[in-house]
Amino acid sequence: MQGYVIRGLPIIKEGDDIASLVKSLFNFQDGDVLCLASTIVAKSEGRFRELESYHPTDRAALIARNVGKDPRFVQAVLDESEEVLLDKPFLLAVTRFGHVGINAGIDQSNVGDARILLLPENPSTSAERLRASLGKECAVIITDTCGRPFRSGVAGVAIGWAGIAALRDWRGERDLHGKALEITLEAIVDEIAAMANLLMGEAGDGTPAVVFRGLKYPRSGGDSVFMAKDKDVIRPRLRR
Ligand code: GDP
Ligand code: MN
Ligand code: MN
Repeated sequence: MQGYVIRGLPIIKEGDDIASLVKSLFNFQDGDVLCLASTIVAKSEGRFRELESYHPTDRAALIARNVGKDPRFVQAVLDESEEVLLDKPFLLAVTRFGHVGINAGIDQSNVGDARILLLPENPSTSAERLRASLGKECAVIITDTCGRPFRSGVAGVAIGWAGIAALRDWRGERDLHGKALEITLEAIVDEIAAMANLLMGEAGDGTPAVVFRGLKYPRSGGDSVFMAKDKDVIRPRLRR
């Protein structure tokens, strides 16, 4: 397996054609997995917002005091969220497309001015569109850097994907000693996203696109890395 960091991408603006840009810098082959930082996908989709455009409700103002943030920023998080899981000491929210993240993934770094940057509205839809524009049988994973419960430090996760199964199903496989596997689902898009995020860097590296070649992965099947609400035993306890 090889990993390639695509160098030479510009600062992305609304309307930029990311598929054309990466194709002009890298020769894609069938089977490649293209990982893109959600930041540049969001920029190309014009997900910038002015803080001034938000008019915080009383609830946003109250949460803003708990988390030490601008009430207008908190209102932006609430607007992007289906549910708030924690509103102290930081804001942990479920986005409308199912991802759970601090501040609903809204970024203020690598944006370039006073504006904020929302996540893409539906990252898997974005991934599918980008995949179709690549013109090869590739997979596309849209990543974001996230904190993890129970673990220190941030890591990359997949927030959207296309042309690859989110989960690899090991059911029916046997271990070294012939015992049937019990842990059956492996979150392969997250594993790939974590490696991509490591290669992208977090600061001014300017490398939001990474390609893996020679990975074996299931092209379809598996549903989602976003855990179904009715299967999640942690979420109801956070609500209490
Ligand atoms: P996130 O993990 O999706 O929130 O994105 P980050 O802000 O951590 O950025 C990931 C990588 O993309 C870093 O190497 C950034 O320097 C780079 N990056 C962010 N925005 C741009 C951009 O508009 N153009 C380029 N070339 N790189 C960018
Ligand atoms: Mn981010
Ligand atoms: Mn990052």
